[in-house]
Amino acid sequence: MQGTPYDPDNIFAKILRGEIPSHAVYEDEHTLAFMDVMPQSEGHTLVIPKTPSRNIFDADPTTFMWLMPTVQKIAKASKKAFHANGVRVVQFNEAGSGQTVFHLHFHVIPTYDGVELKLHARQQEDGGHLAHNAEMIREALKFIS
Ligand code: AMP
Repeated sequence: MQGTPYDPDNIFAKILRGEIPSHAVYEDEHTLAFMDVMPQSEGHTLVIPKTPSRNIFDADPTTFMWLMPTVQKIAKASKKAFHANGVRVVQFNEAGSGQTVFHLHFHVIPTYDGVELKLHARQQEDGGHLAHNAEMIREALKFIS
């Protein structure tokens, strides 16, 4: 399919190569999950494939076969870790839809009674707080099949 090519210097590609740090919560052969640095709610996590694709338009269908089990694991673990009332799963494709980082990713956003989600990609969270939340999710993952 024609379209803007994948940029190997996008920020998530750099995270995958270990060139910049992240608060990782889960990794397997095909996927990585880490804390969003500008979370829309407590525990907001991103799930990305290790294969390079820009978004839903250029990704090989098998990419989703690997991604979705990780999205499900993270959704279950974050709901448990933070006693959320639910979890929103969101995915943007191209700038017009709100995509700002052009490596395919799913947002896993816990929701809470009476708490509105913050705006998308606006306010940087404290690193220590993100590290703490990552630890909470890693701990909850031990109980998720
Ligand atoms: P999107 O707009 O769907 O492309 O989402 C990109 C997300 O990546 C936003 O929610 C940002 O807060 C988040 N983000 C940007 N840079 C980083 C980073 N270095 N580590 C973790 N999350 C990031």
